[in-house]
Amino acid sequence: MALFTTPTRLNPADPPPPNGRGEAARHSEASGAESRGAESLGAESSGAAPSAAAPPAAEPSATKASPAESAAAGSHAATFGRSALRHHLTNLLIALSAGCLCFIRRWYDLERLEPRALGYLRAVPPDRTLLLATVVAALIVTAIFWLAWTWVERHPTLFRRRLGHAIFLLVMLSALESVRRYWNSESSRFDTGSNLALAVLEGLLACGFVMVCFGRPRILFAARRVALMLTLLLPALAFDFTSDLFNPDEPEQFANRASLPMLPVSGDAPRVIWLVFDELDERFAFDERPADLDLPELDRLRSESVAARHALEISSWTAVALPSLISGRVFESARMVDARTLKLKPAGGGAEVDWRSQPNVFQNTRQMGRNASLVGWHHPYCRVLGDELVRCFALPSSHSTTALEHEIRAGHTGLVKAVPDLFRRAGLNLLDLFRTSEHSLSAQVNEAAVQREQQQQYFALRDRTYLDATDPSLGLVFAHLPTPHMFPIYNRRERNFDLRGARDYFDNLALMDRTVGELRAALETAGLWDRTAILVTADHGFRPDNWRGRTGWTAEFDRLTAGGTSLTVPLILKLPGRREHASFDTPISNVVASGLALAVLCGDVSTAGQATAWLEHHAQAR
Ligand SMILES: [Zn+2]
Repeated sequence: MALFTTPTRLNPADPPPPNGRGEAARHSEASGAESRGAESLGAESSGAAPSAAAPPAAEPSATKASPAESAAAGSHAATFGRSALRHHLTNLLIALSAGCLCFIRRWYDLERLEPRALGYLRAVPPDRTLLLATVVAALIVTAIFWLAWTWVERHPTLFRRRLGHAIFLLVMLSALESVRRYWNSESSRFDTGSNLALAVLEGLLACGFVMVCFGRPRILFAARRVALMLTLLLPALAFDFTSDLFNPDEPEQFANRASLPMLPVSGDAPRVIWLVFDELDERFAFDERPADLDLPELDRLRSESVAARHALEISSWTAVALPSLISGRVFESARMVDARTLKLKPAGGGAEVDWRSQPNVFQNTRQMGRNASLVGWHHPYCRVLGDELVRCFALPSSHSTTALEHEIRAGHTGLVKAVPDLFRRAGLNLLDLFRTSEHSLSAQVNEAAVQREQQQQYFALRDRTYLDATDPSLGLVFAHLPTPHMFPIYNRRERNFDLRGARDYFDNLALMDRTVGELRAALETAGLWDRTAILVTADHGFRPDNWRGRTGWTAEFDRLTAGGTSLTVPLILKLPGRREHASFDTPISNVVASGLALAVLCGDVSTAGQATAWLEHHAQAR
């Protein structure tokens, strides 16, 4: 009996075939003797020669082969001399199946990376390094399994065979459990049916493992057949993963749309810098701010501004909220189509619309004869709306999905480093199976990578925001920044960007505050502070359901969010040359922000009284 199949070269210690018939008799057995041998296992086979797979003499007698193992080994021996090629091929296919299963999470990632819609979140066309690295890693493990089993066949002992069988079953078991956990961590909802089905299969494999230890290989054989059948899927997978080589995304899909020419600038018309801080939460920034968190720049700005105290987020999803803010129209869902197309479903019904077809604040700014620029995160703004702006800089949040984060990392590191990285991650996945912590090691590694990437994106977007903000030729500067969005990328105690000291959401709030202060200083230095309005809002508030148990989540947040999620976001308007504070307390959706920005740009709103009257009018209108 073999893990994989019959030994091609029997060890001298191996016994003769069980029925004692000669070579001719064995040849008379139809092909498929091995599988018949497997099927004949059990009580009815107990009469097979017990010495068929007996260990070498040196092996302790306690490790005698069971009748079932003996029967299988006997039937396998029947194939000796006439189907060596088939035997090797079968062993190789089972080794290949097991090798691929060791990287099942990456295959799952690769499958998730297939839809063209994911191009929306990519900065560049799909990179195939992850696919290549996964194939190479799987082939390396295949070779190891195959060579190891070939060695066992040439130096067989009962212990080695059982060990090989046990390892094979454990590989299958760990693959199922690993992908089950991955499904659960990557899915937005718990799929009871899938989890139950996988749990049953895992239970069977665990039984098989115990049985194999006692010389009962029935489940092993079934698992082996399944592994063989899985190899039938490989051609389909190969076709699936390579089909886009013949139908690639057009490179121009990933190119930014050409910007508009700059219009001449006249006079000292008011300018607007509209800052959307991703996940800036009104409750934590103001109403329930921890005692040890200082936000001096935000407080200073608000003390000189009109502030809506009950501004409501449009959606808890960045993908929906940003188009709504920019178009001044509430959408309830968004669907990515390809690298430059986002379809939106309007709230209250109506057909899905292309984001590009919708009016937006940039078009209105242009119609006023003013120049608009954008600095943005998450959306590929410049591919969608770049031709409605005089300047555009956007960094899609490519790490929005774990699969995409893996693809990008492999692309950055190259094949030579990506392969060892896959082994490292597979090792972590294995370790995670023995941990009970909700925050798995592999998730921690992924999140650390996202954290680093997000910090780099913050630097780039921040610098570009300061550059545009201090350009007097720009009438409207729209900046969507990736802070205080989790994960923490700032150390508020040390006031630096040392990620080891970045602890939680409040660190990112402190970074948001620092950004407001630096922007103000830059505008003052450029002599533009008194002719520039600052409009601050967020796409949505803090989302505990997204971050619970992940990097940056602390017990303090369990307590702080016990009452549920807050739906209020800041809506603060600092008017050019004004210092008076006014509070607006009527609940209002912050979708009015684009209209408010345009009202300031065209001069309709220039005082706190006009601003509150404008807000009152629009609060009642909605
Ligand atoms: Zn967001």
